[in-house]
Amino acid sequence: MKYVQTVLGQISPDEMGFTLPHEHIFWDLSFYCPKDLADTDDTDPRKQPIGLENLAQLKYHLTDYPDNVIQQDEDIAVKEVNWFKEAGGGTICDNGCHGLKCDPVKLKNVSMRTGVNIIRGTGAYLGQTLPPEIAALDVDKLAELSIKEIREGVGDTGIKCGFIGEIGIDVQVSERSLQSLAAAAIAQKETGASILIHQPGLKHSADVLFKTITDNGGDLNRTVMCHCDPLISDPGYIDHMAKSGAYISFDFFGLEAVLGGPLWLPTDKDRILAIKKQIELGNISKILAAHDTAYKCMLRSYGGFGYAHLQAHMLPLMLKMGYTQEMLDTITRENPKAVFSLDDSVV
Ligand SMILES: [Zn+2]
Repeated sequence: MKYVQTVLGQISPDEMGFTLPHEHIFWDLSFYCPKDLADTDDTDPRKQPIGLENLAQLKYHLTDYPDNVIQQDEDIAVKEVNWFKEAGGGTICDNGCHGLKCDPVKLKNVSMRTGVNIIRGTGAYLGQTLPPEIAALDVDKLAELSIKEIREGVGDTGIKCGFIGEIGIDVQVSERSLQSLAAAAIAQKETGASILIHQPGLKHSADVLFKTITDNGGDLNRTVMCHCDPLISDPGYIDHMAKSGAYISFDFFGLEAVLGGPLWLPTDKDRILAIKKQIELGNISKILAAHDTAYKCMLRSYGGFGYAHLQAHMLPLMLKMGYTQEMLDTITRENPKAVFSLDDSVV
């Protein structure tokens, strides 16, 4: 029988409703902040709290402001997730695996207080974010940990994970990244859970990542290539990933900003046109959409669009731009159901 593993327990895939497959509710990205912040005092403009005076600056310096890269407040999370629910949302997948500091107990509290389904990821994010005890694990031990977190729960909380991700692949596609992915593939082989991959910016890394997955017994049809947005100028490459079996996730809706590099993220309009192109190429059953909320300035409490941006602003515009309701339901309801369903004869 198919089911979905949320932080509150099992639900039927039909109970997921409108689903955001790649978000963060609690996170800490302070490892991205400039190192020289340690040498400045409290008058440093970057050390000020988010407010109207620096909100526009943040779009070009997302990780310069420590206040922007950490969200650990449960009451703020409840308020934000309730706005998603009011817009008709059903399920949020928190990709807060090891390295991103996402407390499963807090996720459970938010789910109980809002009634929104929350699914949590397991596995390892980027190497430099990993706590020493996780970084020390070899591939087999890391795989064992993910299997345990899916079958029994995180630590002694009893709160079980429902997928593997987001697995952090760095721009060097380092050995450390590939080890994390190999462990994810082994855990997938045991549990059938999907793998969600943090792709490294503009790098065309799909073939080496796919080989690592299949070499370790994983299934490309249960694999999601997240962050396709920066790659939209090369629709053939995104088509190649989908035709290889992987899901293609456009998950920076609402984030019209610049990441280090520079990595220019596309506008929502360009993203909508890029998704349409992939539908024309026959890939609708592989497309996912989300916001990858991971900066405070993306939350409504801090002047952003929040978790309901897709529903409130994008879907109505997409209908006007030639999408059908059936297409939108496939992307936001049916495809997530397929990705996050587990089979009790395998797990
Ligand atoms: Zn993410």
